[in-house]
Amino acid sequence: MEYIAAMQDMSIEQLIAVIEVLQRSSDAYFYIMDLNTDTYITTRKMLTRFPFESTVTEHVKPHLKQIVYPNDFPKLEADIRRCISGEQTMHSLEYRWFDLEHRVVWIECKGTVIIGKDGHRLLFGRVMELGREAKADNITGLRREVRFQYDAEEILRDRPQTLNYMMRIGIDNFKEINEKEGVEAGDNVLRELADCILATVDPKVDVYRLMSDEFMIMDAMPECGKEARTVYNEIRARVAASVREKEYSCFYTISAGVMQDGFEGKNADTVQSLTEFALNEAKRRGKNQMALFDKEAYDEYLKRLDIRKLMRRDINDNFKDFEVFYQPIVSAPDYRLIGAEALLRWKCEKYGSVSPGVFIPILEESGLIIPVGRFVLWQAARTCKKWREIIPDFHINVNLSYVQIYKSDLLVDVDKCIEEVGIPPESLMLELTESGYIETDERTKELFRELKQKNFDLALDDFGTGYSNMRYLQEIEAATVKIDRSFVAQALNNDNDYNIITHIIDMVHSLGSSVCMEGIEKEEELDRMMQAKPDMIQGYYFGKPSPADRFEEQFLQSEKLR
Ligand code: C2E
Ligand code: MG
Ligand code: MG
Repeated sequence: MEYIAAMQDMSIEQLIAVIEVLQRSSDAYFYIMDLNTDTYITTRKMLTRFPFESTVTEHVKPHLKQIVYPNDFPKLEADIRRCISGEQTMHSLEYRWFDLEHRVVWIECKGTVIIGKDGHRLLFGRVMELGREAKADNITGLRREVRFQYDAEEILRDRPQTLNYMMRIGIDNFKEINEKEGVEAGDNVLRELADCILATVDPKVDVYRLMSDEFMIMDAMPECGKEARTVYNEIRARVAASVREKEYSCFYTISAGVMQDGFEGKNADTVQSLTEFALNEAKRRGKNQMALFDKEAYDEYLKRLDIRKLMRRDINDNFKDFEVFYQPIVSAPDYRLIGAEALLRWKCEKYGSVSPGVFIPILEESGLIIPVGRFVLWQAARTCKKWREIIPDFHINVNLSYVQIYKSDLLVDVDKCIEEVGIPPESLMLELTESGYIETDERTKELFRELKQKNFDLALDDFGTGYSNMRYLQEIEAATVKIDRSFVAQALNNDNDYNIITHIIDMVHSLGSSVCMEGIEKEEELDRMMQAKPDMIQGYYFGKPSPADRFEEQFLQSEKLR
């Protein structure tokens, strides 16, 4: 009580000096609230985290109403009222505030009422962020992400030039360890890795445990001088040794994403996402390695995200800027136009025409290939109906993505499509990319069987690029095998490859399927490849992919394309 009495003799200026000094050594935010005048005095640090405009706020109540989460305000008001009336001399409340970014933050506010020099009742106290309480991790004994966020923010603001590197380390197959070996084994691995990291870095270097299986090393000690690559290699060697020592009872490897420069002007959130990107790169390249943050790759990644956003917008705008092109397919050896392949195109103002090699994978990753695939299917079916009036047995090939096979009800879609448009199933040939189907499970085999029963023809696309596999070919009983143009190009340059293609074509024929050769560009290529006896040809020599109206003008009227 005598301390409180001593404080009562202090002027308000002296009290402000006290809270500013206390603030230097605490993560809490100190304040004094004059309950008589409704004036709120706080520290400069409070202003960097919560939306107070100045360290002194007169008539604070309306202002607090904006900072405090609306549902919690009545509770606060009632508690303060009890302090004003003298009913209580302590204030203690857990409730929510909004921070500067208007994110909800749980806080614990405590305070003691003292009578100031001028007889005013002053509430003298501090605000703690509850999230920051959980600063240390009980498993590894390291500090946690909130603490990293806090420390990094400070260093990035005050002395970014002292940062040697930030290294985000992840365990490559942590989920698997937890699932197969149990959570306890997972915890042991985390502890072990923490020890390996601490044994490697200088004691002055900060190490944190981030969420799940990730760690962060922040070296802002220029004199320590160990390079990121050396640090990573040493940690990795320690991990390998400890796995060996424990007789491989729990095997794991680690990857790392590292940022070494470019810290100026960045905040902790940004650095978090950039190191996360680098770590993902390391994992994508095959794990058990370290990747340096690569600005170019990151920009590429951002561009892909942007393209995804733009495509989604176009899809919702009735597939605006998506268009289906058609490339002629001719029969051999009479070079009669018998069909076309539907090839999707997309363009936008910002990036112009984007290649399908770029945008198709983006559509696949995001699942957007499902609506877009339907769009292509319906467009192709309608076009085919029109062109069959001129060439009665004309068919259009439609590419199917593995995502459509696995994640949509393809059978229902194709059935509905031919029924609505009014064409027989054999007018569509469904192209499957070989590499996407290597792991055929019973469900996909059943799907292919049903498609065939319904008289849809299947084509195996891109043959010769991946794991060209005859057994697989037999399994899906494709009506047609499309030999990829890269394989054709090889065969044109190399007699061995040419012989292989000839044999493949013989084998495909012996299985009762036909062969379409892709990518024939020149007359001499055609003459050479014709000796291998393909059944169909598709390539720039006969025509490039073009919009439907141009295709009609260029190709549909002529009976033979050579
Ligand atoms: P793909 O199905 O193997 O299609 C053949 C590709 O080879 C097309 O490229 C075509 O323009 C190109 N091509 C044909 N003949 C020649 C030639 O003589 N020389 C050269 N240099 N190229 C030739 P495109 O249109 O860029 O499409 C690339 C890939 O994108 C396609 O390969 C296909 O896998 C995918 N794709 C295109 N449209 C769709 C679609 O609607 N759905 C799905 N899932 N994938 C599609
Ligand atoms: Mg194709
Ligand atoms: Mg192909």
